[in-house]
Amino acid sequence: MPKAVFNEAAEAIINFRNTGLSILEIGHRTPLFESVLNEAVQLAKELMHLDNDHEVLFLHGGATTQFFQVPMNLLNENQTAAYLDCGVWGSKAIKEARIFGNVNVVASSKDKNYTYIPRGFKIPEDAAYFHYTTNNTIEGTEMFHIPETNVPLIADMSSDILSYVTDFNRFALIYAGAQKNIGAAGVNMVIIRKDILGKVNRKLPGMMDYRQHIEAGSMLNTPPVFAIYVCLLTLRWLKNLGGVGAIEKLNIAKSELLYKTLEEKAGFEPTVAKEDRSRMNVVFLINDAVLEKRFLDACKEQGMIGVKGHRSVGGYRVSLYNALPIESVQALSTLIHQL
Ligand code: PLP
Repeated sequence: MPKAVFNEAAEAIINFRNTGLSILEIGHRTPLFESVLNEAVQLAKELMHLDNDHEVLFLHGGATTQFFQVPMNLLNENQTAAYLDCGVWGSKAIKEARIFGNVNVVASSKDKNYTYIPRGFKIPEDAAYFHYTTNNTIEGTEMFHIPETNVPLIADMSSDILSYVTDFNRFALIYAGAQKNIGAAGVNMVIIRKDILGKVNRKLPGMMDYRQHIEAGSMLNTPPVFAIYVCLLTLRWLKNLGGVGAIEKLNIAKSELLYKTLEEKAGFEPTVAKEDRSRMNVVFLINDAVLEKRFLDACKEQGMIGVKGHRSVGGYRVSLYNALPIESVQALSTLIHQL
């Protein structure tokens, strides 16, 4: 998270907008919070250049809830949804969708431990929708191109939303847990094109029904007030920086520097196919036990934490989310070169 956001969020816990109240105790149905929510929605629309057909919601339950809320709202029992299987998160989404209808996995990169993005796959014209994960957080692959199809596109953008310029209006539904690029854990941003809703014939619990959330303006029940406030601060920070185009340039610079360093340093090996490498999560191996120990010791000494890979894949993973300054990458690059 950006330092400025930490400072402002901390201040709001003590004294929110000079009211003498904490953001943690204000009522959510007050003009104070309504102005937070409205500004966050407007900023998200502005930064993504969303058209009027798209609604922005802030919902609970993490991206994991969207794995089942999406098929619950969009997939009838006798219908088939198309899914791309490119990693741990995508395969979890597939598992959940199968509870509600049929799933056609149109392509998978499981054969090579999810180290590439499949190409040339076909999305059936009669699929209820096509779902994919734009950035595979654990495996370190990222898909920048949007597939050409007439079926509604659904994307899990949890780990790369707002990190590069794309046509967000091409998507029928986008969801993203806030905790990488939008704010703090505890809230999801969900962007929905309204015309896709109301087509399933099952009954939906209110909290699972996107239409009810749209109607209630993300206030069907008590929203995660503080988490939404942190989203607002982060969105403002991004706008002040110059928006998505500006952060994209920085993200390209950060990731290019790190991948170049890993390619140059003997013993270090990025695991992902060059053309599919993520700008958010750089995954690599160190093929030499002595070098590996030197690397870990140096990281510890210099206070660089969190470089170990996800427990399911091992190796190393360096995450370069929007808020990470390029100076941190430069420091890591120097550390690696000096090993
Ligand atoms: N999808 C992706 C791409 C993720 O990176 C994650 C978490 O890291 C999730 C889904 C799950 O998110 P949550 O823990 O918010 O449910």
